[in-house]
Amino acid sequence: MQKMDKIADFAEITPTARIMTPAHGWRAKCLQRLVRLELPVPETVALPAQTVRGIAAGQQVDVAAILAHFGEGALISVRPSPENPDWGGPGTILNVGMNAGRHAALVEKHGQAAADALYLRFVQSYATHVARLDPDMFDAAPSAEALRDALRVYELEMEEPFPQDAGRQLAEVLRSMARAWEGTTARLLRQAKGAAPEAGLGLVVQEMAQGIGKGVSGSGVMQFVDPVTGLAQVTGRYLGQSQGRDALKKTDAIYLTRDVRGPSLEDIAPEVFAELVAHGARCRTKLREEMQIEFTIEDGRLSVLDAVKVARSARAGLKIAVALARDGIITENEAVLRVAPRSLTEMLHFQVDPRGPRDVFIKGIAASPGAATGRIVFSSAAAQASAARGEPCVLVRRETAPEDIRGMHSAIGVLTERGGMTSHAAVIARGLGLPCIVGASEMKLDGKEKTLTAQDGRVLREGDVITLDGSTGEALMGATEMLAPALDEDFRTLLGWADAVRDIGIRANADTPADAATARRFEAQGIGLCRTEHMFFEDDRLVVMREMIFADTSKDRAAALARLLPMQRDDFVQLFSIMQGLPVCIRLFDPPLHEFLPQSREGLRELAEALDRPLSEVVRRAEALSEFNPMLGMRGVRLGVVLPEIYDMQAQAIFEATVEIARGGAAVVPEIMIPLVSAKREVELVKARVDAVAAKVRAKSGVEFAYKLGVMVETPRAALRAGEIAQHAAFLSFGTNDLTQMTYGLSRDDAGRFMNTYVQQGVFPEDPFHVLDVDGVGELLHIGAERGRKARGDLVLSICGEHGGNPESIDFCRKAGFDYVSCSPYRVPLARLAAAHLAL
Ligand code: PEP
Ligand code: MG
Repeated sequence: MQKMDKIADFAEITPTARIMTPAHGWRAKCLQRLVRLELPVPETVALPAQTVRGIAAGQQVDVAAILAHFGEGALISVRPSPENPDWGGPGTILNVGMNAGRHAALVEKHGQAAADALYLRFVQSYATHVARLDPDMFDAAPSAEALRDALRVYELEMEEPFPQDAGRQLAEVLRSMARAWEGTTARLLRQAKGAAPEAGLGLVVQEMAQGIGKGVSGSGVMQFVDPVTGLAQVTGRYLGQSQGRDALKKTDAIYLTRDVRGPSLEDIAPEVFAELVAHGARCRTKLREEMQIEFTIEDGRLSVLDAVKVARSARAGLKIAVALARDGIITENEAVLRVAPRSLTEMLHFQVDPRGPRDVFIKGIAASPGAATGRIVFSSAAAQASAARGEPCVLVRRETAPEDIRGMHSAIGVLTERGGMTSHAAVIARGLGLPCIVGASEMKLDGKEKTLTAQDGRVLREGDVITLDGSTGEALMGATEMLAPALDEDFRTLLGWADAVRDIGIRANADTPADAATARRFEAQGIGLCRTEHMFFEDDRLVVMREMIFADTSKDRAAALARLLPMQRDDFVQLFSIMQGLPVCIRLFDPPLHEFLPQSREGLRELAEALDRPLSEVVRRAEALSEFNPMLGMRGVRLGVVLPEIYDMQAQAIFEATVEIARGGAAVVPEIMIPLVSAKREVELVKARVDAVAAKVRAKSGVEFAYKLGVMVETPRAALRAGEIAQHAAFLSFGTNDLTQMTYGLSRDDAGRFMNTYVQQGVFPEDPFHVLDVDGVGELLHIGAERGRKARGDLVLSICGEHGGNPESIDFCRKAGFDYVSCSPYRVPLARLAAAHLAL
């Protein structure tokens, strides 16, 4: 055995044998556990990875030593056993050892047809997987003639008769499986699933339990949960006179339980069925997992050949983990760790049923998850008309602007040609929980003809039915089967367990009462960002907001502000009541003006009407307000410094709402946040005025209240000067959307055009608007946090850009000592779970 030209390093699987994983692989390890549980596993030996590697390199294996473990003339199977089941491996080969002599014996025992079928099956798999002959030459249905043909074709092609010696057959099977593992495609596939380049393959050789013969004989698979829903339920198939996983492939296979139509295994072999159920329960408790059991019955005698983890959907994965913890089989923390945070997202929304066909016609950036089917419309007006008719529609636009809000509310999904993760369409759709694809730059829109030309040239028209899959960024032709959201008791239970261990707060970005209600439903710990200008995106409110922006005299502006004040106050009262004492952080106006200016002549005319001014005057004013670089222009605190009465109105609305809530007996400490700060003086100016408004409201109402004033760090300068800024701020919240835009000098609204190319060519590892750039933007965050905390020990730190919900960003923020992250309401569950994973 030490001679390197003949290797026979293998381990027999017995209750006491020491199977050395990971070299022997997951299957060997699992079989050993089944043996220890005293399940009826046939004789098995396991070859470790180093032996298999030697075989692939041409070393001769001592097959006689292996065969000596099995009875004279036994048939055996060889199965792959890599370290991780997800890494694949070559297909199982059954019935090794089959030859003319064994065939004759089987004819005696089980009859001609059964013996022929078995021999043919082995010749077919040996010819195609070991000798690598063309499968088409060996695909005949079982018959005596087919067997003869197969043996003849083999001999013709290989210029030798079909090998009869079991030792030679086994040596060849081992060699071909060992080599298949070393192939380039197999290597790439497993490396994509996390395998190390040097990962090896173990092999498992097992005595065949024949599923053919007299009495009840056959094979099947059994599992104890539904793989899609995760509900406890015996599922599987059984097929008489069959082997391996035949029962899963053949239509004449029968069900296992009696509660289904037609005959079942429970009917024909109740004792075996009961035995299987008992084995299943044992596996679940002892292996601490839902397993699928592969079994064979030979004349009423049961053998368990294999057990694999049940393949499952995300929703089933959650249910299984919770059920195992509830039954005391795993701990609650283990259940938390068994559910991948990103898998939650698909449970919050409708999802394209993964079992159905997918006819993709365009791919873009997956900007907001979930799926929806509807008819194409190309304008917001058409979307509203469609909704009025009760017809679900998908709004397809080059990009969206504030006047599309009504259209977006009416649509069930949004698809845009331009934009990135933080463009208008993406942010709004995520807030509304609508599936959204942006930056689908390969599609061509013809507004006049009302057509959309897909990547492959197919032309779609208004009214055509499509399905958006916002989780993958793919738009599909026609309607697809859907899975409904799964926000049930188990979902809440698991997140409750996650909350018990996590050590960073999770708040939601919520702009409207509807968003706040969603945030509460997902159990956010408060609102981390309320973008107040978004409260005016809707209906007639947009007009008042525009009036305020368009006002060119302080009298006109005062009139518009007077109309905005009660709207804002009511909004805040609602937000405070919905959040029931949880913190609410309100950002003062930050309207990039271009988002509020009408984009079309039509829009300008509407505005002229609403303002009762001549169109020419409105056009002139729009031109005067338009900026070359609106995202770097009159935004955020700059508006507050230049036109302070706007922030005065907002502060008044916030404080009056606070007083109203206080009078109702509840206490609120509002948090007010100043956007787009770059200098200390900006904060001083705003703070002085907000303090003055607070004093006025206190005096007038006779009600005492407290509030906190903080700063959004969205410019590199604010991060660098965080020390002096923090002197006037109770908290700093990093707005990583703008901070990323400004750190890279990369427009957040235009990046979608070239981001794919940049990522493909490895310029950026990921879209930095999607995954926080910890090296560059992250360094600014570190600097800001450190300088801020040095100046003020009790400074509260958080992040509220779209990155807030990403597990990688949460990891960063936790390590940097942040107090909380804030993300869109629909990402809150993912963030809660990801934070728990990081803490465990
Ligand atoms: C940000 O810039 O990160 C942010 C949260 O603000 P907005 O997206 O509204 O600019
Ligand atoms: Mg910002």
